[in-house]
Amino acid sequence: MGQLSLKDVQKSFGDYQVLKNIQLNVGNGEFVVFVGPSGCGKSTLLRMIAGLDSVTGGDILIDGDRVNEKPPVQRGIAMVFQSYALYPHMTVFENIAFPLRVEKMPEARIREKVEGVAKILQLDQRLQQRPGMLSGGQRQRVAIGRAIVREPKIFLFDEPLSNLDAALRADMRIELSKLHRDLKATMIYVTHDQVEALTMADRIVVLNAGNIAQVGAPLELYHKPQNLFVAGFIGNPK
Ligand code: ADP
Ligand code: MG
Repeated sequence: MGQLSLKDVQKSFGDYQVLKNIQLNVGNGEFVVFVGPSGCGKSTLLRMIAGLDSVTGGDILIDGDRVNEKPPVQRGIAMVFQSYALYPHMTVFENIAFPLRVEKMPEARIREKVEGVAKILQLDQRLQQRPGMLSGGQRQRVAIGRAIVREPKIFLFDEPLSNLDAALRADMRIELSKLHRDLKATMIYVTHDQVEALTMADRIVVLNAGNIAQVGAPLELYHKPQNLFVAGFIGNPK
């Protein structure tokens, strides 16, 4: 499972309405990318899906259940942010294992799971190192490892690659797409990078001024943007 429904979702901070009327259904295992200008409410929307921020109107349903105050982990949701806060004094193993220790999982099971995740993310040679020894891309993979070790059904990514240099971003795009295929989890991914959106998404959602400007497959938006705004963000520049 991992179905997400946004039903007439609205969000205001005081008098300022950030999100006006967001309607979207995301299927199990789908990779949906949100793009839109800075300040248009992308992070706010992810936080609401995670249950970290309240909605001021409408409903967010995960597998038919309304998102409520339960912490994200109990609802099978994991978030990965741009600034991944690893514990500098802990090894890679302990950083990835941390959420499982919080759950008091037996040690043998923790070892098995962390080693499995490290293999997928090609961190198996790094498990005894501390984050300070790693490259930016490796550190981001540790943060992703910490998210996937709980086997969430929905991943929320908030510009996870924007602190990496171009070459690393290209590698990580491929790795994340592979991860999506391997895990078959639903992924909601926010980025301002057109290439990320076009290469990774099953569908792209373009946000503008509190509403969805267009939703569609990458090629559809690229070749048939419905308006100048979408064209400017994602369209064929020719
Ligand atoms: P994005 O991620 O698309 O850049 P955000 O979701 O971070 O945008 O923010 C959307 C708008 O909501 C911005 O104008 C921001 O200033 C405002 N905002 C975000 N969080 C808060 C908050 N806790 N209190 C007041 N305003 C907020
Ligand atoms: Mg943001």
